[in-house]
Amino acid sequence: MIRTHTLGFPRMGAQRELKQALERHWRGEITAEALETTGRELRARHWALQREAGLDFVTVGDFAFYDHMANHIQLLGSEPARFGFTGEEPALQRYFTMARGEAGEHSHSCCAGHAAAEVHALEMTKWFDTNYHYLVPEFDATSDFSLHAERLFAELAEAQALQHSAKVVLVGPVSFLWLGKSKHEGFDRLSLLGQLVPVYLDLLTRLAARGVTCVQMDEPVLGLDLPPAWAEALRQAYAALAAAGQHILLATYFSPLRENLALACELPVGGLHVDGVRAPEELVAVAAQLPAERDLSVGIVDGRNIWRADLDQALLTLRKLQWQRGGRLWIAPSCSLLHVPISLREDAALDSELASWLSGAVEKLAEVKLLERALWDCHRLEVAAALAGSRRALAKRAASSRVQNPEVAERLSTLPAKIDQRHSPFPARQALQRDRLRLPVYPTTTIGSFPQTAEIRAARAAYKRGQLAEADYRDAMQHEIAEAVARQEALGLDVLVHGEAERNDMVEYFGEQLEGFAFTANGWVQSYGSRCVKPPVLFGDVSRAKPMTVDWTAYAQGLTPKPMKGMLTGPITILQWSFVRDDQPRATTALQIALAIRDEVQDLERAGIAIIQIDEPAIREGLPLRRSEWRAYLQWAARAFRVSASGVGDATQIHTHMCYSEFNDILPEIASMDADVITIETSRSDMELLRGFGDFNYPNEIGPGVYDIHSPRVPSSSEMLRLMKKAAEVIPPEQLWVNPDCGLKTRGWVETEAALRQMVAAAKELRDEMA
Ligand code: GLN
Ligand code: ZN
Repeated sequence: MIRTHTLGFPRMGAQRELKQALERHWRGEITAEALETTGRELRARHWALQREAGLDFVTVGDFAFYDHMANHIQLLGSEPARFGFTGEEPALQRYFTMARGEAGEHSHSCCAGHAAAEVHALEMTKWFDTNYHYLVPEFDATSDFSLHAERLFAELAEAQALQHSAKVVLVGPVSFLWLGKSKHEGFDRLSLLGQLVPVYLDLLTRLAARGVTCVQMDEPVLGLDLPPAWAEALRQAYAALAAAGQHILLATYFSPLRENLALACELPVGGLHVDGVRAPEELVAVAAQLPAERDLSVGIVDGRNIWRADLDQALLTLRKLQWQRGGRLWIAPSCSLLHVPISLREDAALDSELASWLSGAVEKLAEVKLLERALWDCHRLEVAAALAGSRRALAKRAASSRVQNPEVAERLSTLPAKIDQRHSPFPARQALQRDRLRLPVYPTTTIGSFPQTAEIRAARAAYKRGQLAEADYRDAMQHEIAEAVARQEALGLDVLVHGEAERNDMVEYFGEQLEGFAFTANGWVQSYGSRCVKPPVLFGDVSRAKPMTVDWTAYAQGLTPKPMKGMLTGPITILQWSFVRDDQPRATTALQIALAIRDEVQDLERAGIAIIQIDEPAIREGLPLRRSEWRAYLQWAARAFRVSASGVGDATQIHTHMCYSEFNDILPEIASMDADVITIETSRSDMELLRGFGDFNYPNEIGPGVYDIHSPRVPSSSEMLRLMKKAAEVIPPEQLWVNPDCGLKTRGWVETEAALRQMVAAAKELRDEMA
């Protein structure tokens, strides 16, 4: 009567086999067949793990060579016409073209006659509030749909040939449309629902004919602020899909159902999966409202984080629900396990104690299964022993001096009231800073990083492996810094940076030096396509043992009379890009990080650094999925930033940087961060997004990015001049800085120097025109 399953499983493989195979295939080193073989092997291995864990189903349809939304675009016959596919191309080739775009071959004017135009890839965006990026479907009035299920059916056949009981997972029709974008203004993509649903119906019917007895339909939009028309769309779609006679398990995750709870319980499906980790408070209501004959699947093991589950707590919850549901229950992780590493218990970089506090995907499956067995018979010897082992690990974690640091607790409980405020308001600071810095109008600067050349990466790697002595490593990095400073001076930039040669990643660099963080050897999580990230594990109270950037920055400042901008990563970005402890509020953890960064800011100031940038590219992506929760988040996030930034004198200038510029809906909170200067990404929107700052009368200084750093293209100074003039129409010129959109670490020196030369020329022109 109790069943166990998972909503999805990581795709990459324990050794990132998929990544390697994909990249080799893209380089032309292995054939499509060889890539397919790797995919097949990985699926077989991952199903075997689910089966060995004792789950009632293996999940089919969660695998993707790039992204599951891209799979659905093909499955539903929704490849955008702009790619100009004839249909003769192999499906996999079309798939990678959509995912990665196609470089225009002869794009010079000399051979325009046979120029193949550049086709850009589908846009990529974040999957809800995760760090996974999906490919965005494109819809317009000409969109239509048709079923192309060959790949899905083939994967199903593989699972069946291996004698697995298969549950197929699909993104449901309403979420599929919601997650796509309308290509023409005014086009309502929801109008496509009537065409889309029959394709799903056909698919469900065919799956039933192939012996599938359960289809998980993901409709995570149920956890969002859903406009009424979209809620109605769910009603219509699922009323129509009921005709397939398939057992549909409707799945929602990441967010509470709230006003959609009744709707979720009413839809005519076979069962409902809810996220019991993000919305434990709703479980009882769901269990009460979901009709008795339907299955309730409880996502009780956290699919978004890596902590070992509190099984006693989970059992208490499940027992109540089991009783409410007359003994019938499904148990699962809260969401797909795509968002956690495949396994962590044996990770080579973790000590055994820390590893025993963590669970990767494989360990989470074991937790799900153990919960099921415990519900039946918690007195069985091995069940009791496993529960006791888990309890012990948890108790150790809770009491560990590695987690709890009394000094940090003491500091947090005795924070001065004005710790998050600068001494004087911005206008007073601005006057003092102008006096001290003596910068021209339209000062030029960059965002921090300079090209990470092969030599830099080789030196860092050798140092990490112990093959390069500390002193030699320092020499090598100082050499790079000196080089970067010399180039900036030659270019005539006004505010210089040291270039971040010593950092391989803006979060990892700080995490490695702060107390409370650990790093895994193999804790990879897919970010997009073949790209994986290895987020730090933030397991304990955070503190800073010693300065982290002062030596490098002071060295760089010693090379030049121009102001050298110190460069730090902000508390929210460090929080957002790590696996964060679940035993205290995120706001508390953010504040701990903020205090550590504050210490660093003060040390930089003491070392004579007059300008310090605290990067916060991740502030916006931390926004909760529900708008009603935005304020509370933004309040503690902005406060954490201010705590990190406010320990300095008025004459020290604080910058922040964010990699986007859609701030319109959060401008008051961005302004409340009170950075003296904010640099943002505006070039790709042609400065349009800067308007919001103008309309809001943003009070402090702004550096709107004047060129896109994502491509090697070198823009002309007149282009940048035009953008700055546009900026000056909405922001008073004396508030403006001139800088690129973002850091330059992915670029080469040739285009970097060429582009910055044009940028400096544009700034000079602006000043000349003013004079
Ligand atoms: N200072 C960082 C850099 O220049 C900022 C990167 C970012 O915004 N993501 O690389
Ligand atoms: Zn950026």
